[in-house]
Amino acid sequence: MCCVPQVLLGDVGTGKSSLVLRFVRGQFVEFQESTIGAAFFSQTLAVDDATVKFEIWDTAGQERYHSLAPMYYRGAAAAIIVYDITNLVISTNVKLGNKALKLWDSLNIPATFLSSCSDFCASFERAKRWIEELKAQGNSDMVMALAGNKADLLDSKNVETEEAKTYAQENGLFFVETSAKTSSNVNNIFYEIAKRIPRV
Ligand code: GDP
Ligand code: MG
Repeated sequence: MCCVPQVLLGDVGTGKSSLVLRFVRGQFVEFQESTIGAAFFSQTLAVDDATVKFEIWDTAGQERYHSLAPMYYRGAAAAIIVYDITNLVISTNVKLGNKALKLWDSLNIPATFLSSCSDFCASFERAKRWIEELKAQGNSDMVMALAGNKADLLDSKNVETEEAKTYAQENGLFFVETSAKTSSNVNNIFYEIAKRIPRV
């Protein structure tokens, strides 16, 4: 089967680029540069008796690029929506300098305090918003996966597995916790997507 157009969505800093680089090149870098606009990757994967070629748009995640997102998800057969299990990423629609962001991170504020997306938006809440947008405006047969990334940072975990799993089930997505750093579940998420894409 040829070509699964796919998009990665999620807040900035959740590890979208790191997941793609792990899948495509088998690499991880601690200081991954922020994506500007979007980046394109492709990778093949053997699934059962077929070879599936993923054509992946890795989007930036910043609010200022939000209006570009439909360009990438409209033609997509699959989407991975990524959040950070430590959930400390906040949207850059809040104009804070780097210092303020670091301070915010160090406060370790529970996710429940960040549930309003109007000003602050934790990455799990942001993921839910992407899912709502995809359900309203994406392909109706799009295969969607929810990835709770940075699963290696267990000590800083702020989003319960059960909560994310339940949300995913209720919304028809499959869910995995991944780590681009250790590569845990990274191939698996692409494999599961390939299995769910209707064969032509
Ligand atoms: P993006 O903005 O969603 O593309 O996120 P990046 O891929 O640029 O990653 C943001 C930061 O998180 C980088 O410093 C990465 O090294 C780090 N990161 C990404 N994935 C993981 C992970 O699975 N575990 C840990 N510990 N750090 C990660
Ligand atoms: Mg990126």
